[in-house]
Amino acid sequence: MTKKKFTIGVLIKQVPIPSQMRATKEGLMDRSVASMMNPYCKHALEAALQLKDTIGEDRVEIWVASMGPPNFEQSLREALSMGADHAVLLSDRKLAGSDTYATAKALSALLNTLGVDFDIIFAGLQTIDGDTAHVGPQVAERMELPHVSYVEGIEYKGDHLIVHRILEGGSITYKVPLPCLLTITNTANTPRGPRLKYAIQARKKEIKTYSVADIGLKDDEVGLIGSPTIVWRVKNVTHDRPPCQFMEGETVEEKVEHLLQAIASPQVEEEKTEV
Ligand SMILES: Cc1cc2nc3c(=O)[nH]c(=O)nc-3n(C[C@H](O)[C@H](O)[C@H](O)COP(=O)(O)OP(=O)(O)OC[C@H]3O[C@@H](n4cnc5c(N)ncnc54)[C@H](O)[C@@H]3O)c2cc1C
Repeated sequence: MTKKKFTIGVLIKQVPIPSQMRATKEGLMDRSVASMMNPYCKHALEAALQLKDTIGEDRVEIWVASMGPPNFEQSLREALSMGADHAVLLSDRKLAGSDTYATAKALSALLNTLGVDFDIIFAGLQTIDGDTAHVGPQVAERMELPHVSYVEGIEYKGDHLIVHRILEGGSITYKVPLPCLLTITNTANTPRGPRLKYAIQARKKEIKTYSVADIGLKDDEVGLIGSPTIVWRVKNVTHDRPPCQFMEGETVEEKVEHLLQAIASPQVEEEKTEV
């Protein structure tokens, strides 16, 4: 009997380009602006591609999956052009307004629907628009997979992995059984760009789209209605503190003198209130 291919899933979210990020008047993320693959997801995909390089191109299959509007196909095609083999998109108006609980429920249902026996699932550590870092661990819990977050290094050992998880001021090493889910930091690797060979194939590859009904969920399990979190208020953060000033001077005495002048000077106060 031939061994099945080593199969890796990568969760990919498309996010607004940071300079264009804005909320709608209802307080939701405006998805109509120009967007790109979430940077952390790129690192997750690179981790998968590096494993493919290690184990062997013909022995590994990479599936990329996303949940979002039809234009999320842009990031999935980019992933295919970097070397992923298959891409699927969960797209349905009923998903609009899903919080991380509903998002993880839908993504895990999507992965289960594919009928693929994943050895590893990679997710980004977090997104740059939602920023919660909830989705990866929640998908793992729903799929009953062991999981490690903040992963910076991965060593493939055949039937298990050695993974390095970053901590403040250090790291911790785990032996992780397969299958598992890992969330990847932006310090883990340097994502590669598209490769011509894959880019040509990517243009023609089918990206199968799934609806909520296709993944076996009811309408009230997703979207705003299936989300226990309620966004109460979205506030623009403004800088109302004065800027930090550095006191120049040749000697400590001179710097202290300048500091005393700065504290006493009403001109400095005026400068502060303008910022
Ligand atoms: C009440 C409420 C309403 C909301 N309404 C909206 C809304 O209308 N529109 C909207 O855009 N957002 C909405 N959000 C935000 C939405 O919940 C999050 O964007 C989403 O759940 C993902 O969370 P995150 O971005 O924090 O992901 P994180 O947990 O920070 O992401 C970690 C990783 O999980 C994976 N991942 C996360 N999301 C996806 C995805 N969609 N597809 C594939 N992989 C993914 C990626 O690998 C990613 O790197 C709402 C949130 C709340 C609480």
